[in-house]
Amino acid sequence: MAKELGEMLDDLREVDEITWGLYAFSRDILKDRVPYEEKVKLTREAIQCGKNYAHRTGERFASQDPQEIARELGLKIDTSLRPMGPERVVFALFTPPDKITVMEEPLKPLNQEQKHKVTDVLISHEIFHYLEEENKSEIFTRTKKILLWKIGPLKNESTINALSEIAAMAFCRELCELELSPFALDVFLYYGYDQERAYDLYDEIMGISEKLAV
Ligand SMILES: [Zn+2]
Repeated sequence: MAKELGEMLDDLREVDEITWGLYAFSRDILKDRVPYEEKVKLTREAIQCGKNYAHRTGERFASQDPQEIARELGLKIDTSLRPMGPERVVFALFTPPDKITVMEEPLKPLNQEQKHKVTDVLISHEIFHYLEEENKSEIFTRTKKILLWKIGPLKNESTINALSEIAAMAFCRELCELELSPFALDVFLYYGYDQERAYDLYDEIMGISEKLAV
């Protein structure tokens, strides 16, 4: 018997931050390049980075309201009716230099209050991506790189996308004071219009969590 959404969210509330980090890494093209222990360590560092920026941002604007902060930063927020792709979980995106787009389709099944709350969460996540641009020479998610290859004096390094996502979620969780990781939105939002996918994601996350518990 399939679980109800509420039961799944209760389970996800118990999931620790390393699980969410590994979940983010599982979607990263560089996932096989980073050893397990390193993923755990980098997850912790990315979370710290996100939290620090949340505190800084709260102080900078004397506000924790994502819509207000976005306004102060001069960011433009618009919505898109484009249907969701079958593969990638994208509910919103930041396009440099100053545009945040929120996808409307996943918000449709929600009531007004839920819609408002989820929109705030999505916007705060994207604000972090803006802040990465603004602070690109010093922010952890941009300065931390892994070496892809090196031949003599030539080398190619890359940032790790999963770290941006982990830090953005930590930023957003801190700013919006969420008791549940915003990564759980993957399950929550998909449940409204693609339940099969919501169950798959839930199983995937719980699988990572159970493996960690052993
Ligand atoms: Zn993101």
